[in-house]
Amino acid sequence: MELGLAGRRALVTGAGKGIGRCAVRALHAAGAQVVAVSRTRADLDALVLECPGVEPICVDLGDWEATERALGGVGPVDLLVNNAAVALLQPFLEVTKEAFDRSFSVNVRSAFQVSQIVARSMVDRGVPGSIVNVSSMVSHVPFPSLSVYSSTKGAMTMLTKAMALELGPHKIRVNSVHPTVVLTAMGKRVTADEEITRKLKERHPLRKFAEVEDVVNSILFLLSDCSASTTGSGIMVDSGYLAS
Ligand code: NAP
Repeated sequence: MELGLAGRRALVTGAGKGIGRCAVRALHAAGAQVVAVSRTRADLDALVLECPGVEPICVDLGDWEATERALGGVGPVDLLVNNAAVALLQPFLEVTKEAFDRSFSVNVRSAFQVSQIVARSMVDRGVPGSIVNVSSMVSHVPFPSLSVYSSTKGAMTMLTKAMALELGPHKIRVNSVHPTVVLTAMGKRVTADEEITRKLKERHPLRKFAEVEDVVNSILFLLSDCSASTTGSGIMVDSGYLAS
């Protein structure tokens, strides 16, 4: 399948580590011009060394004003991956205002804001585009101590549909991917208990979690014209968990 991403300009948030970093590598290898947005400068410096030509932008996406300053002049973008997120584990009864606000600011509000910046420019230029929101299977199924995180991902599901509805007439598609556990830094944090993790893995029909590359392949498919008639939709990358 020819994805045809060469020459397109893509912006990936949360590009410093994990799934976002792998997405930047894949887009770069496919010939796309990539804007890599993340919070830790050292991660971006290393990424630029690895993928020459990638444009780094260092900003805390949980800060609305800083994001506006950093991305307001980002220029034309054809493809957007809203990937940055935090997973702050707290039992429901112990959730703090700080964790709630931080989670919604980074996981939902920044996707909202960055999408507005990118989509306004697409509409002004009269060009088509594709946006992929990196959600999670916990947007569909609850897990202990993840009430806030899964609520942000549930919100992202509706945001995906709402954006698809309003942006569709402008030929801008919006979709999401929903991974199960991926053993990135975030994934390792949420699976710290070995016994619970072993049992969780066994509940997946494929008896495994997902690899970073599995998630990135679905992101690339949704970014590309290979999914030209797909919008407001989501791909489960969950090793069959929701079918069980
Ligand atoms: P990760 O390894 O923790 O990487 C997240 C990246 O996002 C890091 O580079 C991080 O930078 C950046 N980021 C976080 N907050 C930011 C902020 N406020 N501003 C700018 N950048 C920020 O996470 P991951 O596992 O790759 O997760 C990527 C996406 O997949 C997330 O949306 C996550 O919810 C989703 N997901 C992950 C899993 C999993 O098991 N890993 C499962 C389902 C869905 P810093 O490190 O510098 O903060």
